[in-house]
Amino acid sequence: MGRQKIKETSLFHKNIKKRGIYKVSEGVEVTDFNNSLKKLNPDLVELNNIMNCSPLPQFVIDRDHRVVLWNKAMEDYSQIKSTDIVGTDHHWKVFYDSKRPCMVDLVINEDLEGLEYWFPHRCKPSQQVKGAYEAEQYYPHRGPQGTHLHFTVSTIRNHDGEIIGGFESFEDITKRKVAEKELQESEEKFRSLIENLNVGVYRNTSDPGGTFIQVNPAFAQIFGYDSPDEIMQINVMDLYVNKEDRVLFLEDLQREGSITDRKLLLKKKDYSNIWVSVSARAHYHEEGFIDWVDGMVEDTTHRIEAEEALQKSEKRYRSIVENINDGFCIHDFKGVIQDCNENFALMLGFGREELIGTNLDEFSSTRMLSFKNDVVDELKNKGVVEFDGDVRGKNGIRHYYSINSSIISQEGEGKVQSFLRDVTKRKEMEKKLLKSENKAHKRLSEIEAIYNSAPMGLCVLDCDLRYLRINKSMAEMNGFSPQEHIGKSIHEMVPDLSQQGEAIAKEIFQTGKAVSMEMNGTTAAQDGAVRTWIEGWYPIKDSSHQIVGINMAALEITDIKRANEALKKSEEKLRLTIEGAGVIMWFWNIENDRVECRGHYKHILGPGPIPDMGYNELLSFVHPDDLEKVETAFQKTLQYGEDFKVETRTIWKDKSVHWFSIMGRVVYDLQGKPQEMIGIALDITNNKIVQLELQETLRILKRSNAELEQFAYVASHDLQEPLRMITSFLQLLKLRYENQLDSDANEFIHFAIDGATRMQEMINDLLTYSRIDRKRGDFKEVKIEDILQQITFEYKLLIQEKNAVIHFGELPVITADYTQMVQLFQNLISNSIKYNDQPCPTIHITAEKQDNDWIFKVADNGIGIDPQQGDRIFKIFQRLHSPDEYEGTGIGLAIVKRIVERHGWRIWYDSQPGKGSNFYFNIPGRLNHEI
Ligand code: ADP
Repeated sequence: MGRQKIKETSLFHKNIKKRGIYKVSEGVEVTDFNNSLKKLNPDLVELNNIMNCSPLPQFVIDRDHRVVLWNKAMEDYSQIKSTDIVGTDHHWKVFYDSKRPCMVDLVINEDLEGLEYWFPHRCKPSQQVKGAYEAEQYYPHRGPQGTHLHFTVSTIRNHDGEIIGGFESFEDITKRKVAEKELQESEEKFRSLIENLNVGVYRNTSDPGGTFIQVNPAFAQIFGYDSPDEIMQINVMDLYVNKEDRVLFLEDLQREGSITDRKLLLKKKDYSNIWVSVSARAHYHEEGFIDWVDGMVEDTTHRIEAEEALQKSEKRYRSIVENINDGFCIHDFKGVIQDCNENFALMLGFGREELIGTNLDEFSSTRMLSFKNDVVDELKNKGVVEFDGDVRGKNGIRHYYSINSSIISQEGEGKVQSFLRDVTKRKEMEKKLLKSENKAHKRLSEIEAIYNSAPMGLCVLDCDLRYLRINKSMAEMNGFSPQEHIGKSIHEMVPDLSQQGEAIAKEIFQTGKAVSMEMNGTTAAQDGAVRTWIEGWYPIKDSSHQIVGINMAALEITDIKRANEALKKSEEKLRLTIEGAGVIMWFWNIENDRVECRGHYKHILGPGPIPDMGYNELLSFVHPDDLEKVETAFQKTLQYGEDFKVETRTIWKDKSVHWFSIMGRVVYDLQGKPQEMIGIALDITNNKIVQLELQETLRILKRSNAELEQFAYVASHDLQEPLRMITSFLQLLKLRYENQLDSDANEFIHFAIDGATRMQEMINDLLTYSRIDRKRGDFKEVKIEDILQQITFEYKLLIQEKNAVIHFGELPVITADYTQMVQLFQNLISNSIKYNDQPCPTIHITAEKQDNDWIFKVADNGIGIDPQQGDRIFKIFQRLHSPDEYEGTGIGLAIVKRIVERHGWRIWYDSQPGKGSNFYFNIPGRLNHEI
């Protein structure tokens, strides 16, 4: 289609018929081109070839705004092939997103208003191509910085001057535009910098007089001129105080090409001097001479003044630093030494130079290193720090320093100055002092502690006998606190003792000597109690032997005194007792074999002086029959240390025989050797006689008792047989002859049987009674409840017959003879039923705990007993009733009593006639336990 359209552009086709070579380049006038075109009439392809040689994108449209030619550069730029666009009016697509006229469209239409409208910026007739227009257009959205295009557009006219088409060429000027912009910006920045800089900037000529080409406002200001224009009126040389300086400056500049930081003394508009620092660079002409000079000027008057002052002060300061006795160094926060004075170097034993760069840590003790961080922290916070530290020098000797550090600069690692003052001697002294102070303190506190805790009273009095110091013991003796004493006189604190005290003090002041004495009196501590002290009063003298006070020590001996008196009294009492008791005291000194006697010995030894006695003389009083016994006892005591105890007969001076109980004990010396034997001897003749008589009576009694028991046993036992015979024959007699005999005879037989039966009962009871003690002890745990159950069971018939009731609750288990316990309760219960005329005899059996004992009680509601009968009822064969009233043998309670006593218990009763009886027996806990 495109090709067809090309053909249709007949105008061009016709006009560009001939091939020809012609030059198409920028700057070629379109009219020339048109002329050439007219002349040569080259064909369109040829023209295309020519355009294709151009590096600029170019295209041609015809009068109908259709693309006729589209060169290679255009293809590259637009990425649209000429074959695709030729013949169309789509050339706008290269530049715009929607259809709008391109420059060439407006130019061929000669629409100048449109041109102005669509290309408002920089659209103007071209200076280079006549009749052509140029414009620049910015496309902000093309490329990273947008795109600037520069267009050149011209019309193509025919011979008649009619417009037959248009030619548009353009160039991408983005790079140039950006560079221009940047340059402009930087120039602006630079200008504003120069304008606003505090530093003076100038450009001048290099001839000796020198003319200013340009200066900035700061330059004018530095020299006191109102504006750059004003200063530019003068010559450069006019600024110099010394003309030679300018000459020198130019020479150096000529030689070096540039000068940096040259200090120059110049003068201001008001002729005052000004120190400046000038840096300048020469700009050379091609021929080698200096075209102009650019330079910068800085007012350094203040800096130089400050530097001079600093230098001065540094000099002064260094001379101080060097001359002070202290060590001085400058270091950073880490401790790296930057500078130091000689003294510091000497302290560490190094040369000054050696120390620069070394770290202070190398000389610090571990102790110092441990608190280094804290010191640095404090220094950073406060700016200064003072501390004590120890430093070890090259020789290894440690010195102590008082160190004062302060910050000079916080920048970087910091800059710190430290002054070190050697305080080793002071430290050592302090240490020594501390040590001795500690020692003294310790000793003082020891003394103080001893003083205060001393069991005896101690105090210091001044010359007016006022308390300066007092310990706890004495304060307690006086009855006040130690503090209450201080400053008070003895008269105020111990008025009862003050008179004695004042007398002692007087003596001390007169003689200057210590006084010891016993003191008696009362103090507030024990109201009214007279107490005794042993007191020592010692004068305290100053260096000129003047008495300045009194040291007093007091030991209370009240109790000792009392004890002594009590001892004396008790000894006296003992002596009187012994003497009163007729006791002889004897002391046998074993070592020198001397016997000494006291008390009632005169009966034995006879009146007159006591003869010298030894062991053998002592034994000579002993009855020959007891001698062996006595000697053995002595030996045993001496040998085994046993107490000596012997009963012996003695023969007195008057030949009478006396029983003596002699007791003794060995007293040993410190080495454990028997030293003395002491003892007493008691005349027991009377006791002995009684005792012997008693023994005899007992023996006789025992024998008769045994005989009696034997008799009772034998009698009751042996009587059983003939009695049984009598009874059985009487029964037989009754059986056979009862109805054959007269009534009297029958009555006699009946009496005889009755008597025999009673006798049998009595004999049985007597046998039981005699057997009680004969029985060998068979004690075991007995549950009384069981016994009562058994009895209730056995007496069932009697109980029923008598309508009796037996009550018993929980009863203890006791240790006893089971059979005898049955006997005991049986007798008591049967009596309670028997001696009872109530319709319902009732018996209560209880046991009650009293202390450790069990008290058993058998209580009935029977006829009761007249208390006047006393213990008669417990005696054998003793009855209160005739057999007609109540049957019985009178042995029941005797058996009960004997059983009770055999167990070690006791029986009693309480009763009133008609009010029932209570029988008691106690079972002691102790016995119960033992049984
Ligand atoms: P006996 O019952 O065989 O007469 P005892 O020795 O048992 O002999 O009693 C002695 C006497 O004590 C009795 O004759 C009686 O008078 C009196 N007696 C004993 N127990 C009781 C009692 N529970 N109540 C009243 N009197 C009693």
